[in-house]
Amino acid sequence: MNTYHIKGNEEKVFNSRDEAVNFAQYDLGLNHFGITSNSYTWELKVIGDYRYRISSTGDSSEKYGKCQCCNKHASEMFQQVEEKIGYSHYLKRTCYGLTNNKNLFGHKECLEQTRKLEEVAI
Ligand SMILES: [Zn+2]
Repeated sequence: MNTYHIKGNEEKVFNSRDEAVNFAQYDLGLNHFGITSNSYTWELKVIGDYRYRISSTGDSSEKYGKCQCCNKHASEMFQQVEEKIGYSHYLKRTCYGLTNNKNLFGHKECLEQTRKLEEVAI
């Protein structure tokens, strides 16, 4: 069975990625953190009502096709999932759900540019 850790906090072990994410986001109050499991790492970023999860596929455009943002070759393809917080009538609570922009493959920098802009403090 896979176990999950919050990056930089290896002593605390979780049985699922969601548990680790929830602990990092809500108990530790982090808005930018990593989750690791075996050799796999996800980087999460919370921006307002949105949450982004990005990870390397470990492969290039040869396998995944060109970057979906710039249409160029990528030697390392990343996958990004976009979620937005909202009220679920089914679960009767607030939770994250996938958006229409939910699943993109491409260069890490290109994917990061598709994110909602952070509010800039003046
Ligand atoms: Zn690109």
